[in-house]
Amino acid sequence: MAAGLDCSKLCPEWPCESPGDFKGVWVVAELVDGEVSEPSLQMLTPARKIAEKLGDPVTGVIVGPPGAEKGAEELIKRGADEVIVVEHEGLSEYYPEVYGEVIARLAAERKPSVILLAATARGREMAPYIANTLRAGITADCTDFEVDEKTRDVLMIRPPFAAIMLAYIRTPFRRPQIGTARPNVFPVPPRDESRKGRVVRVEVEPPKPRARLVSRKRIGRRETPIEKADVIVAGGRGLGGPEGFKLLEELASLIGGVVAGSRKAVDAGWIEADRQVGLTGKTVKPRLYIAVGISGSAQHMVGVREARRIAAINIDPEAPIASQADYTVVGDYREIIPALIDELKRLKEEGAKYLEELLAGEVVVVEPER
Ligand SMILES: Cc1cc2nc3c(=O)[nH]c(=O)nc-3n(C[C@H](O)[C@H](O)[C@H](O)COP(=O)(O)OP(=O)(O)OC[C@H]3O[C@@H](n4cnc5c(N)ncnc54)[C@H](O)[C@@H]3O)c2cc1C
Repeated sequence: MAAGLDCSKLCPEWPCESPGDFKGVWVVAELVDGEVSEPSLQMLTPARKIAEKLGDPVTGVIVGPPGAEKGAEELIKRGADEVIVVEHEGLSEYYPEVYGEVIARLAAERKPSVILLAATARGREMAPYIANTLRAGITADCTDFEVDEKTRDVLMIRPPFAAIMLAYIRTPFRRPQIGTARPNVFPVPPRDESRKGRVVRVEVEPPKPRARLVSRKRIGRRETPIEKADVIVAGGRGLGGPEGFKLLEELASLIGGVVAGSRKAVDAGWIEADRQVGLTGKTVKPRLYIAVGISGSAQHMVGVREARRIAAINIDPEAPIASQADYTVVGDYREIIPALIDELKRLKEEGAKYLEELLAGEVVVVEPER
């Protein structure tokens, strides 16, 4: 028990638990077309770190239709010591409360100390469902994890909303400790062909879904998802309307990039929500991030911390992004972007040598001819 705190007084409505009864670090694996998704594999990196400090095993958890077990090997080769597999016809369609209930039942029975999920659309739905069912604590969007070696509590580290400091969140009285991290915050551990692990098949009768899937429509993916893009041209409220994004599309296609946006641009309906960068959007790690008409709020910049180079185009030299970007062009994007597009087209026609490097995502500083 944490010094000076009495669990029964803090939350009298929840029975106190003994954290020592819980053991193991679980990673809930999401399957995409039968394969474990990259964000789920990334969660094995913090899982191993926590497990090594606790001296506990890492367990992958696969829940899905018959055939789902296929993903177990990849989890083991990338760091899981064992994989629990629940296969059932009733899991052929994904329903958050059905999947969440199956995982919660497994956890109630097997008592893991920690459960990690990738904060994908599914992870963000399932994790709170699991936490609420188990009456456990949850910390979303962690950027790191530590272990308090004295209490064995996991410290879930994340930027608070203002994103200018880090919060260390612990759940001293309840288990399991549930945490999510967004895709690309952690690397996928290298595949180790020599790793061996146990696959444990468990029978769980999934509950009947309360919702019914009426139809499924695949959203057309014209381009690379922003979290995988090497070059990103992002637009913000400063674009003033959706037509500004047409210019950004043109620029992006010339330099082999994709278009993204700030939350203001998404809220205004100028760009799709899956292209939002930032705290409540995605974390990106391009080699080049061009921010156009974006002020550089802490909530936006937290999503581009991994960008190798940031270039900003902003009318205001005092905009916060100017002090965070590697290069800032001060001016109206409506003049700068068309000029840039013309110049790029001209260079392309001439086959300029350094354009190749630019297309590869490197920013090249070009001395003006005198
Ligand atoms: C809990 C929480 C979570 C959030 N999550 C996110 C998130 O995930 N992502 C995110 O982006 N925001 C997020 N926000 C919102 C964030 O605080 C900012 O409000 C938002 O990032 C601002 O968007 P913006 O830079 O597009 O707009 P603004 O802040 O309005 O900036 C517009 C910029 O455009 C410039 N400009 C104007 N006209 C031109 C022109 N003609 N040419 C060039 N530049 C021009 C202006 O100088 C200004 O700097 C979150 C906020 C909260 C509270």
